[in-house]
Amino acid sequence: MILLDGKKLALKIQEDIKKDVELLKQASITPGLAVIMVGDDPASRVYVKKKAEACKEVGIYSVVHEMPENIKEDTIVNTIKLMNENDSINGILVQLPLPEHINQTKILETIDPKKDVDGFHPFNMGRLFLDLESFVPCTPLGVMKIFEEYEIDLKGKNVCVVGASNIVGKPMSALLLNAFATVDICHIYTKNLSEHTNRADIVIVGVGKAGLITEDMVKEGAIVIDIGINRLDNGKLVGDVDFENVSKKCSYITPVPGGVGPMTIAMLLANTIKATKL
Ligand code: NAD
Repeated sequence: MILLDGKKLALKIQEDIKKDVELLKQASITPGLAVIMVGDDPASRVYVKKKAEACKEVGIYSVVHEMPENIKEDTIVNTIKLMNENDSINGILVQLPLPEHINQTKILETIDPKKDVDGFHPFNMGRLFLDLESFVPCTPLGVMKIFEEYEIDLKGKNVCVVGASNIVGKPMSALLLNAFATVDICHIYTKNLSEHTNRADIVIVGVGKAGLITEDMVKEGAIVIDIGINRLDNGKLVGDVDFENVSKKCSYITPVPGGVGPMTIAMLLANTIKATKL
Protein backbone atom coordinates (compact mmCIF):
# COMPACT_ATOMS: atom_id res chain seq x y z
CA MET A 1 0.00 0.00 0.00
CA ILE A 2 1.29 3.44 -0.90
CA LEU A 3 0.31 6.41 1.25
CA LEU A 4 -0.72 9.42 -0.85
CA ASP A 5 1.15 12.11 1.05
CA GLY A 6 -0.86 15.29 0.52
CA LYS A 7 1.06 17.15 3.17
CA LYS A 8 4.41 16.64 1.42
CA LEU A 9 2.96 17.52 -1.99
CA ALA A 10 1.27 20.63 -0.57
CA LEU A 11 4.60 21.83 0.86
CA LYS A 12 6.27 21.33 -2.52
CA ILE A 13 3.50 23.32 -4.26
CA GLN A 14 3.76 26.07 -1.63
CA GLU A 15 7.50 26.39 -2.33
CA ASP A 16 6.72 26.95 -6.03
CA ILE A 17 4.02 29.47 -5.12
CA LYS A 18 6.50 31.35 -2.93
CA LYS A 19 8.75 31.78 -5.97
CA ASP A 20 5.77 32.97 -8.04
CA VAL A 21 4.91 35.53 -5.36
CA GLU A 22 8.51 36.79 -5.31
CA LEU A 23 8.42 37.31 -9.08
CA LEU A 24 5.09 39.14 -8.84
CA LYS A 25 6.48 41.33 -6.06
CA GLN A 26 9.46 42.21 -8.24
CA ALA A 27 6.88 43.58 -10.67
CA SER A 28 5.33 45.54 -7.73
CA ILE A 29 2.31 43.22 -7.51
CA THR A 30 1.35 41.68 -4.18
CA PRO A 31 -1.35 39.01 -4.51
CA GLY A 32 -4.25 39.71 -2.13
CA LEU A 33 -6.93 37.41 -0.73
CA ALA A 34 -10.03 38.56 1.17
CA VAL A 35 -11.88 36.07 3.36
CA ILE A 36 -15.37 36.69 4.73
CA MET A 37 -16.29 34.76 7.80
CA VAL A 38 -19.80 35.01 9.26
CA GLY A 39 -20.57 33.75 12.78
CA ASP A 40 -18.37 31.78 15.10
CA ASP A 41 -18.39 28.18 13.90
CA PRO A 42 -15.29 26.60 15.53
CA ALA A 43 -14.40 24.45 12.49
CA SER A 44 -14.74 27.44 10.13
CA ARG A 45 -12.54 29.47 12.47
CA VAL A 46 -9.81 26.81 12.28
CA TYR A 47 -10.01 26.68 8.46
CA VAL A 48 -9.89 30.48 8.12
CA LYS A 49 -6.89 30.64 10.44
CA LYS A 50 -5.08 27.95 8.44
CA LYS A 51 -5.80 29.78 5.18
CA ALA A 52 -4.50 33.09 6.56
CA GLU A 53 -1.34 31.40 7.92
CA ALA A 54 -0.69 29.72 4.57
CA CYS A 55 -1.04 33.08 2.77
CA LYS A 56 1.45 34.67 5.15
CA GLU A 57 3.86 31.78 4.68
CA VAL A 58 4.04 32.31 0.89
CA GLY A 59 3.83 36.11 0.96
CA ILE A 60 0.20 36.58 -0.15
CA TYR A 61 -1.52 39.53 1.54
CA SER A 62 -4.71 38.37 3.26
CA VAL A 63 -7.48 40.11 5.10
CA VAL A 64 -10.29 38.43 7.08
CA HIS A 65 -13.64 40.23 7.38
CA GLU A 66 -15.29 38.79 10.48
CA MET A 67 -19.03 39.36 10.71
CA PRO A 68 -21.48 38.48 13.48
CA GLU A 69 -23.99 35.61 13.12
CA ASN A 70 -26.95 38.04 12.87
CA ILE A 71 -25.42 40.16 10.08
CA LYS A 72 -27.77 41.40 7.34
CA GLU A 73 -27.41 39.82 3.91
CA ASP A 74 -27.04 43.26 2.29
CA THR A 75 -24.00 44.04 4.44
CA ILE A 76 -22.21 40.92 3.15
CA VAL A 77 -23.26 41.75 -0.43
CA ASN A 78 -21.94 45.31 -0.11
CA THR A 79 -18.65 44.14 1.39
CA ILE A 80 -18.15 41.74 -1.53
CA LYS A 81 -18.99 44.49 -4.04
CA LEU A 82 -16.36 46.74 -2.46
CA MET A 83 -13.78 43.98 -2.75
CA ASN A 84 -14.77 43.29 -6.36
CA GLU A 85 -13.72 46.90 -7.07
CA ASN A 86 -10.60 46.82 -4.88
CA ASP A 87 -7.47 46.38 -7.02
CA SER A 88 -5.36 45.13 -4.12
CA ILE A 89 -7.73 42.16 -3.69
CA ASN A 90 -7.31 39.45 -6.32
CA GLY A 91 -9.24 36.64 -4.66
CA ILE A 92 -12.45 36.62 -2.60
CA LEU A 93 -13.61 33.71 -0.51
CA VAL A 94 -16.71 33.36 1.66
CA GLN A 95 -16.22 30.71 4.31
CA LEU A 96 -19.14 28.26 4.29
CA PRO A 97 -21.53 27.38 5.82
CA LEU A 98 -23.39 30.67 6.16
CA PRO A 99 -26.15 31.19 8.75
CA GLU A 100 -29.67 30.01 7.75
CA HIS A 101 -31.05 33.51 7.11
CA ILE A 102 -28.43 34.28 4.46
CA ASN A 103 -29.08 33.29 0.85
CA GLN A 104 -25.85 31.47 0.01
CA THR A 105 -26.45 31.50 -3.75
CA LYS A 106 -26.96 35.26 -3.75
CA ILE A 107 -23.73 35.74 -1.81
CA LEU A 108 -21.67 33.48 -4.06
CA GLU A 109 -23.16 35.10 -7.18
CA THR A 110 -22.05 38.52 -5.96
CA ILE A 111 -18.36 37.55 -6.15
CA ASP A 112 -16.70 38.67 -9.39
CA PRO A 113 -16.07 35.34 -11.23
CA LYS A 114 -12.53 36.56 -11.98
CA LYS A 115 -11.87 36.75 -8.21
CA ASP A 116 -13.77 33.57 -7.35
CA VAL A 117 -10.83 31.56 -5.96
CA ASP A 118 -13.13 28.93 -4.42
CA GLY A 119 -14.74 28.30 -7.82
CA PHE A 120 -18.25 28.20 -6.35
CA HIS A 121 -19.80 30.90 -8.59
CA PRO A 122 -22.26 29.31 -11.08
CA PHE A 123 -20.24 30.88 -13.92
CA ASN A 124 -17.11 28.96 -12.94
CA MET A 125 -19.03 25.82 -11.99
CA GLY A 126 -20.75 25.83 -15.41
CA ARG A 127 -17.45 26.28 -17.22
CA LEU A 128 -15.95 23.43 -15.19
CA PHE A 129 -18.75 21.10 -16.28
CA LEU A 130 -18.17 22.16 -19.91
CA ASP A 131 -14.43 21.46 -19.46
CA LEU A 132 -13.57 25.10 -20.13
CA GLU A 133 -10.90 27.15 -18.35
CA SER A 134 -12.27 28.21 -14.95
CA PHE A 135 -11.56 28.50 -11.25
CA VAL A 136 -11.88 24.96 -9.92
CA PRO A 137 -12.99 24.31 -6.30
CA CYS A 138 -9.88 23.74 -4.19
CA THR A 139 -10.64 20.34 -2.63
CA PRO A 140 -11.41 18.43 -5.85
CA LEU A 141 -8.56 20.27 -7.59
CA GLY A 142 -6.24 19.10 -4.81
CA VAL A 143 -7.38 15.50 -5.35
CA MET A 144 -6.59 15.81 -9.08
CA LYS A 145 -3.09 17.10 -8.23
CA ILE A 146 -2.55 14.03 -6.04
CA PHE A 147 -3.49 11.76 -8.99
CA GLU A 148 -1.10 13.73 -11.20
CA GLU A 149 1.79 13.55 -8.72
CA TYR A 150 1.44 9.79 -8.21
CA GLU A 151 0.88 9.22 -11.96
CA ILE A 152 -2.51 7.62 -11.43
CA ASP A 153 -4.19 7.44 -14.84
CA LEU A 154 -7.93 8.09 -14.72
CA LYS A 155 -8.84 7.31 -18.31
CA GLY A 156 -11.39 4.48 -18.43
CA LYS A 157 -11.20 3.87 -14.66
CA ASN A 158 -14.38 3.18 -12.71
CA VAL A 159 -14.52 5.87 -10.05
CA CYS A 160 -17.13 5.97 -7.32
CA VAL A 161 -17.61 9.40 -5.73
CA VAL A 162 -19.47 9.18 -2.42
CA GLY A 163 -20.98 12.54 -1.45
CA ALA A 164 -22.55 14.87 -4.02
CA SER A 165 -22.35 18.34 -2.51
CA ASN A 166 -21.87 21.44 -4.67
CA ILE A 167 -18.43 22.09 -3.18
CA VAL A 168 -16.97 18.59 -3.10
CA GLY A 169 -18.75 15.71 -4.86
CA LYS A 170 -20.22 17.48 -7.90
CA PRO A 171 -17.09 19.37 -9.02
CA MET A 172 -15.01 16.25 -8.24
CA SER A 173 -17.24 14.24 -10.58
CA ALA A 174 -16.94 16.85 -13.34
CA LEU A 175 -13.14 16.80 -13.14
CA LEU A 176 -13.10 13.00 -13.30
CA LEU A 177 -15.49 12.95 -16.23
CA ASN A 178 -13.35 15.54 -18.02
CA ALA A 179 -10.40 13.18 -17.45
CA PHE A 180 -12.42 10.37 -19.13
CA ALA A 181 -13.11 8.30 -16.02
CA THR A 182 -16.44 6.46 -15.73
CA VAL A 183 -18.06 8.15 -12.77
CA ASP A 184 -20.63 6.78 -10.36
CA ILE A 185 -21.94 9.50 -7.99
CA CYS A 186 -23.49 8.34 -4.71
CA HIS A 187 -25.31 10.26 -1.98
CA ILE A 188 -27.53 9.80 1.03
CA TYR A 189 -30.37 8.26 -1.01
CA THR A 190 -28.15 5.81 -2.90
CA LYS A 191 -29.32 2.24 -2.32
CA ASN A 192 -26.75 -0.46 -1.54
CA LEU A 193 -23.78 1.88 -1.39
CA SER A 194 -21.32 -1.01 -1.11
CA GLU A 195 -22.41 -2.38 -4.51
CA HIS A 196 -21.24 0.89 -6.03
CA THR A 197 -18.01 1.21 -4.07
CA ASN A 198 -17.07 -2.43 -4.63
CA ARG A 199 -17.21 -1.99 -8.41
CA ALA A 200 -14.80 0.94 -8.32
CA ASP A 201 -11.10 1.06 -9.15
CA ILE A 202 -11.03 4.35 -7.26
CA VAL A 203 -13.29 5.35 -4.37
CA ILE A 204 -13.44 9.04 -3.43
CA VAL A 205 -15.44 9.85 -0.32
CA GLY A 206 -16.47 13.25 1.02
CA VAL A 207 -19.48 12.85 3.28
CA GLY A 208 -18.61 13.75 6.86
CA LYS A 209 -19.35 10.40 8.55
CA ALA A 210 -16.52 8.70 10.39
CA GLY A 211 -16.13 5.03 9.49
CA LEU A 212 -18.63 5.13 6.59
CA ILE A 213 -16.35 3.20 4.25
CA THR A 214 -15.39 -0.16 5.68
CA GLU A 215 -13.06 -2.90 4.45
CA ASP A 216 -15.85 -4.97 2.86
CA MET A 217 -16.86 -1.97 0.71
CA VAL A 218 -13.69 -1.70 -1.38
CA LYS A 219 -12.18 -4.19 -3.77
CA GLU A 220 -8.66 -5.55 -3.42
CA GLY A 221 -6.10 -3.08 -4.84
CA ALA A 222 -8.49 -0.14 -4.99
CA ILE A 223 -7.33 3.46 -4.68
CA VAL A 224 -9.08 5.30 -1.84
CA ILE A 225 -9.25 9.07 -1.42
CA ASP A 226 -10.70 10.28 1.87
CA ILE A 227 -11.94 13.87 1.83
CA GLY A 228 -13.99 13.64 5.03
CA ILE A 229 -12.99 15.47 8.19
CA ASN A 230 -14.59 14.36 11.44
CA ARG A 231 -13.69 15.20 15.00
CA LEU A 232 -14.33 12.23 17.35
CA ASP A 233 -15.46 12.72 20.95
CA ASN A 234 -11.92 11.99 22.10
CA GLY A 235 -10.69 14.92 19.98
CA LYS A 236 -9.07 12.74 17.31
CA LEU A 237 -9.40 13.89 13.69
CA VAL A 238 -10.48 11.15 11.26
CA GLY A 239 -11.85 10.84 7.74
CA ASP A 240 -14.84 8.91 6.40
CA VAL A 241 -12.80 5.75 5.80
CA ASP A 242 -11.95 3.09 8.36
CA PHE A 243 -8.28 3.68 7.58
CA GLU A 244 -6.80 0.90 9.67
CA ASN A 245 -8.68 -1.89 7.93
CA VAL A 246 -9.32 -0.41 4.48
CA SER A 247 -5.65 0.50 3.99
CA LYS A 248 -4.72 -3.21 4.14
CA LYS A 249 -6.70 -3.81 0.93
CA CYS A 250 -5.70 -0.69 -1.03
CA SER A 251 -2.98 0.00 -3.53
CA TYR A 252 -3.04 3.71 -2.59
CA ILE A 253 -4.82 5.65 0.16
CA THR A 254 -4.83 9.19 1.56
CA PRO A 255 -4.45 9.62 5.33
CA VAL A 256 -6.53 12.00 7.48
CA PRO A 257 -5.00 14.30 8.53
CA GLY A 258 -2.21 14.84 6.02
CA GLY A 259 -4.00 13.88 2.81
CA VAL A 260 -6.55 16.03 1.00
CA GLY A 261 -6.75 18.76 3.68
CA PRO A 262 -3.33 20.36 3.07
CA MET A 263 -3.89 20.11 -0.70
CA THR A 264 -7.09 22.16 -0.38
CA ILE A 265 -5.11 25.01 1.18
CA ALA A 266 -2.33 24.72 -1.41
CA MET A 267 -4.92 24.95 -4.22
CA LEU A 268 -6.44 28.06 -2.65
CA LEU A 269 -3.01 29.70 -2.81
CA ALA A 270 -2.57 28.50 -6.40
CA ASN A 271 -6.00 29.88 -7.38
CA THR A 272 -5.13 33.22 -5.76
CA ILE A 273 -1.95 33.43 -7.85
CA LYS A 274 -3.97 32.50 -10.94
CA ALA A 275 -6.46 35.29 -10.17
CA THR A 276 -3.59 37.75 -9.67
CA LYS A 277 -2.07 36.87 -13.03
CA LEU A 278 -5.46 37.40 -14.72
P1 NAD B 1 -22.33 18.18 2.80
O1 NAD B 1 -23.02 17.86 4.07
O2 NAD B 1 -22.66 19.42 2.05
O3 NAD B 1 -22.57 16.97 1.78
C1 NAD B 1 -22.49 15.64 2.20
C2 NAD B 1 -22.82 14.71 1.04
O4 NAD B 1 -22.74 13.38 1.52
C3 NAD B 1 -24.24 14.90 0.48
O5 NAD B 1 -24.22 14.77 -0.92
C4 NAD B 1 -25.02 13.72 1.10
O6 NAD B 1 -26.09 13.27 0.28
C5 NAD B 1 -23.93 12.67 1.20
N1 NAD B 1 -24.18 11.68 2.26
C6 NAD B 1 -24.55 11.91 3.54
N2 NAD B 1 -24.67 10.73 4.20
C7 NAD B 1 -24.38 9.77 3.32
C8 NAD B 1 -24.32 8.35 3.39
N3 NAD B 1 -24.62 7.71 4.53
N4 NAD B 1 -23.98 7.66 2.29
C9 NAD B 1 -23.68 8.30 1.12
N5 NAD B 1 -23.71 9.64 1.00
C10 NAD B 1 -24.05 10.35 2.08
O7 NAD B 1 -20.78 18.11 3.13
P2 NAD B 1 -19.51 18.72 2.32
O8 NAD B 1 -19.40 20.15 2.58
O9 NAD B 1 -19.51 18.20 0.93
O10 NAD B 1 -18.34 18.01 3.13
C11 NAD B 1 -18.22 16.58 3.15
C12 NAD B 1 -17.04 16.20 4.04
O11 NAD B 1 -15.84 16.66 3.45
C13 NAD B 1 -17.07 16.80 5.46
O12 NAD B 1 -16.50 15.88 6.35
C14 NAD B 1 -16.17 18.01 5.33
O13 NAD B 1 -15.58 18.37 6.56
C15 NAD B 1 -15.14 17.47 4.38
N6 NAD B 1 -14.41 18.49 3.63
C16 NAD B 1 -13.08 18.37 3.62
C17 NAD B 1 -12.32 19.27 2.92
C18 NAD B 1 -10.85 19.07 2.91
O14 NAD B 1 -10.11 20.01 2.63
N7 NAD B 1 -10.35 17.86 3.17
C19 NAD B 1 -12.93 20.33 2.25
C20 NAD B 1 -14.32 20.41 2.23
C21 NAD B 1 -15.06 19.48 2.94
